[in-house]
Amino acid sequence: MSMADMREPIESGCPDGFQYMHPVMRKNFGNWKYHDDPQPGVLRHVAYSGDEVYTIKAGTQRILDIFTLRKLCDIGDKYADGFIRFTIRSNIEYIVTDEAKVQPLIDALTDAGFVVGGTRNSVTSLSHTQGWLHCDIPGTDASGVVKSMMDELIGEFKAWNMPNRVHITTSCCQINCGGQGDIAINVQHTKPPKINHDLVSNVCERPSVVARCPVAAIRPAMVNGKPSLEVDEKKCICCGACFPPCPPMQINDAEHTKLAIWVGGNHSNARGKPTFQKLVASGIPNNPPRWPEATAIVKNILKCYKEDAKDWERINDWIERIGWPRFFEKTGLPFTKFHIDNWRGARASLNASTHIRF
Ligand code: SF4
Ligand code: SF4
Repeated sequence: MSMADMREPIESGCPDGFQYMHPVMRKNFGNWKYHDDPQPGVLRHVAYSGDEVYTIKAGTQRILDIFTLRKLCDIGDKYADGFIRFTIRSNIEYIVTDEAKVQPLIDALTDAGFVVGGTRNSVTSLSHTQGWLHCDIPGTDASGVVKSMMDELIGEFKAWNMPNRVHITTSCCQINCGGQGDIAINVQHTKPPKINHDLVSNVCERPSVVARCPVAAIRPAMVNGKPSLEVDEKKCICCGACFPPCPPMQINDAEHTKLAIWVGGNHSNARGKPTFQKLVASGIPNNPPRWPEATAIVKNILKCYKEDAKDWERINDWIERIGWPRFFEKTGLPFTKFHIDNWRGARASLNASTHIRF
């Protein structure tokens, strides 16, 4: 086929964001001189042209109902310049160019029940995955964990009390959108999947499921005269990857699906290289509706970090300075053999190098 015969691709990605930007931000794009933080929840950016913009940040839940959205937009129309945007941690930001508009906007947000904060050295909104609302594989409701924890950490959202910024994430299954953060609360399955053999042949594509298992623990099998699957439980690492393509391989369990807490993850850092998070607490009850056990551990880690870290140390910087043994001593979290990653199978069956292979 010649190039002339090829059709143009249909561009259905996200629209150009410039059209939605505040005009003063558009005008000064790439020409900002500096920014500072006049008060918690407020950023001020100053451009070389002399223009200033104030950004006022308020926490919102990630999944917003239409009534709350309308309320937030009405506040933006009345008290701001009619421009909003959402951050990746589900905070809403209003942009104004007049300093006199900042306090009335904060008052209007506070009166409507929203909390202004989440800037600089605060605990910003927990980021979370979808949970039971519209995903088909969660082992817990990440949104619910966020609500419960933010209720208890709201003082840290509003203030600048932490040594540096704290990003907390949650994730409701063990394999997909999952969290990487200063503190991450992730689902942890502890038992292999239970197979409903009557449904497998009707619902699952068996080769896809077999291929999906990272440790080759699933084999085709005939059960009661029907094609089904079997799991080598000695090999299974309880990751849950077989459940999405084959729902009859149920791994979620009220008792055996737990939460685990990981710390020290950082995608990028002006002062150091990116770091992977490490497991510090496991087997925590997945205990809705308030998840008190997980919340207590997170609050304890934050307390130790606040007391012991130097200014501007992120959690990973703090742990690197004091060392992991001191981290466990200070937080009082038990260090067990389960914290040591001694699984050797990855060398043979996982992509363990930095090379991309297909
Ligand atoms: S973390 Fe897993 S269960 Fe939660 S929304 Fe993402 S894919 Fe779904
Ligand atoms: S849970 Fe993970 S390791 Fe276990 S059988 Fe399923 S895909 Fe394989």
